[in-house]
Amino acid sequence: MSSQKIFAGVDIGSTTAKAVIVRDGRMLAFSIIPTGPDMALAARDVLERVLAANGLRQEELGSIVVTGYGRHTAGFGNKAVSEITCHGKGAFSQLPDARTVIDIGGQDSKIIWLDHKGNIIDFVTNDKCAAGTGRFLELISVSMGMKVEELGDLSMKSTSPSSVSSTCAVFAESEVVSLRSRGAKKEDIIAGVHQALMLRIVGMGTRRGFPKEVVLSGGVAKNTGIRHAFEQKLGHQMPSFENPQIIGALGAAFIAASSTD
Ligand code: ADP
Repeated sequence: MSSQKIFAGVDIGSTTAKAVIVRDGRMLAFSIIPTGPDMALAARDVLERVLAANGLRQEELGSIVVTGYGRHTAGFGNKAVSEITCHGKGAFSQLPDARTVIDIGGQDSKIIWLDHKGNIIDFVTNDKCAAGTGRFLELISVSMGMKVEELGDLSMKSTSPSSVSSTCAVFAESEVVSLRSRGAKKEDIIAGVHQALMLRIVGMGTRRGFPKEVVLSGGVAKNTGIRHAFEQKLGHQMPSFENPQIIGALGAAFIAASSTD
């Protein structure tokens, strides 16, 4: 196998570490693991896993680009590139009609606006307030005695979403406790939580709005209830990625590939 045609992108997030291998301009394989307390270890581990699963060694890679919150702690890689650039690149590579990318990760969220060539024209980020992040959903799932993966489908059964504050995760969590004590249905509470998260992010996007196509990336995009909340608010359907959680790592891998062309 020609080493110069295989490239890797590694995205070290606060919650998960992702690695993607691309060959000849296409994704060959990916791996996702929890980041845990040691980001450098997670970065090495996730890359080793995806390589081993495909019978590859790191020496066979043409280049590696590292991105994400922990990109400067990885201790390897040919280049560190911002998450904004990698998510923009990854999203556009999969959906060239994407003009607004909403990335919702474990502890931050961002909106990235692209032009028709995939260039980033603007972006906004939130890493200060948990109310617009996956961490918020994790806290709520614990207090509801559920897995975060179960929230989406249950919320879709709601006929009357509860009203939940979108300004602060701490207030929202105590509102959820209060709603439960008053006998509100689980699905209505969760649908209300999803609306609160969606409204928080919509509020971040006032500068440029939400030009079509609007796409969701990051782990929270796997939550069908969040997608539904955005579609209801925006008034149209949104195209989706097969695996939205690896979009940043995929963009990093394509940047690795293009920087040695
Ligand atoms: P980061 O890149 O910041 O580490 P991710 O993009 O991996 O974070 O997103 C992590 C978040 O994604 C979690 O906090 C959780 O809310 C959400 N998530 C992950 N997997 C799923 C799933 N299968 N269903 C619903 N939500 C999920």
